[in-house]
Amino acid sequence: MARLGGKRLTIVGGGVMGLMTAYHAAPLAEAVTVLEKSRVGDPATASFSLTRSARNDYLDPGYARLAFEARRLWLELQAQAGEPLLVDCGCLNLAKRTVTPDLASTYAFRSFAVLEQLQLRRGALSAAELRRRFPQFSADAGRLDLDAGFVDVPAATRFLQAALRARGVRVAENAVVRGITRSGGAWVVATGAGSVESDALVITAGLGTNDVLGLLPGCPVRFPLRPDRPSQSKYFIPPAAERGRFTERALPVFAYLDVGIYGHPIYEGKTPGVKIGFYNPPDVARADSRIASVEDFVDECMPSLRGADVVDVAEASGADVCCYDLVADDEFIIGPVPGVPAVFTGAGWRGTGYKFAPWAGRVLAQLALQQGTVYDIRRFSPGRFAGGGQAEAAGIGGAAS
Ligand SMILES: Cc1cc2nc3c(=O)[nH]c(=O)nc-3n(C[C@H](O)[C@H](O)[C@H](O)COP(=O)(O)OP(=O)(O)OC[C@H]3O[C@@H](n4cnc5c(N)ncnc54)[C@H](O)[C@@H]3O)c2cc1C
Repeated sequence: MARLGGKRLTIVGGGVMGLMTAYHAAPLAEAVTVLEKSRVGDPATASFSLTRSARNDYLDPGYARLAFEARRLWLELQAQAGEPLLVDCGCLNLAKRTVTPDLASTYAFRSFAVLEQLQLRRGALSAAELRRRFPQFSADAGRLDLDAGFVDVPAATRFLQAALRARGVRVAENAVVRGITRSGGAWVVATGAGSVESDALVITAGLGTNDVLGLLPGCPVRFPLRPDRPSQSKYFIPPAAERGRFTERALPVFAYLDVGIYGHPIYEGKTPGVKIGFYNPPDVARADSRIASVEDFVDECMPSLRGADVVDVAEASGADVCCYDLVADDEFIIGPVPGVPAVFTGAGWRGTGYKFAPWAGRVLAQLALQQGTVYDIRRFSPGRFAGGGQAEAAGIGGAAS
């Protein structure tokens, strides 16, 4: 394949963001190297899981539009993958008066209004319609994001690993970065297994991003990142005779974000049960309610699962042990690192980044190798943290997953 420009790119961090960057960069670069301090798909990283929600139902239209654009890019990847990467079971937001008395002010209703403004495919279900269509739930209203569902994470990882091999990308695992120096207009990254020289650097090291910035000579910026995680993540395993009601064919991804609940259907043959998580994201005001656990949610809103066996997701599959990388102002961080030439970063994806990965990878590859990106990324600028100051809270309304 003809390569443009003859640039060499090193990517530090081999999670989904680093791999997607490498995928988009390979056709544009002379050489692409990914340095991963553990191994791709390590259960201790954010990108390890079986399923990750892919949805557009954000309160902020900017994020909703971006999620839909990322979905378009996922569909392009899926066309090449030869196996499903996206499972389009839809995403259902629930609202129930006994939990959140003012239905109109719930996440379900407000995010639905955004889908409507953006003309994204959606469905509004009354209590009766909800009972008929999804009798697994007990609620007064449901709002469906139709072009949504979840990503099959192992399939996405497999696809990326094979595509990177085919595109000649070198993925160095167990490559702990020891130092970064500037030499004759190039970056030299030293690892325990030798050095790599390149014209541009992309840092996609998740919660390790500030450590890598600390190795960059003269880099003045650090990001206000902090770890956080769901307080519960459990599989509800229904009796065999009832399983069919809870697989991705019958059940959408679901959420009651006002009370910190999100859930995934059983992915038949791949996950053992209905996954339900409990998390209170900092950008969604949590309603005062009696739902303080996944068990409370099942009791109140999903009585069909009352008799199910319950196991921790981590225990059953090793997934979801990692933390989110929260940002003080709740905005993604993507763009050039201020104060150092030809270094770009993508971090601060919180509990919501996976679905955006093809977009983030494309942006980072364009920045590193095409001198700019076709997307407007000003609101995500790493430069907002330059000079020791932190940006004003930008007031976005995100979602937990
Ligand atoms: C429990 C949980 C549930 C989530 N649910 C969803 C969801 O439903 N939907 C959704 O869209 N998103 C979800 N997310 C968010 C999503 O998974 C993350 O945003 C995404 O995986 C981040 O990818 P990453 O590549 O930035 O991070 P990571 O996967 O953490 O990758 C960073 C990599 O950098 C490596 N690294 C770090 N420091 C160095 C160094 N010095 N040298 C070399 N390598 C280094 C690490 O080993 C790691 O492999 C969830 C996240 C978590 C934790």
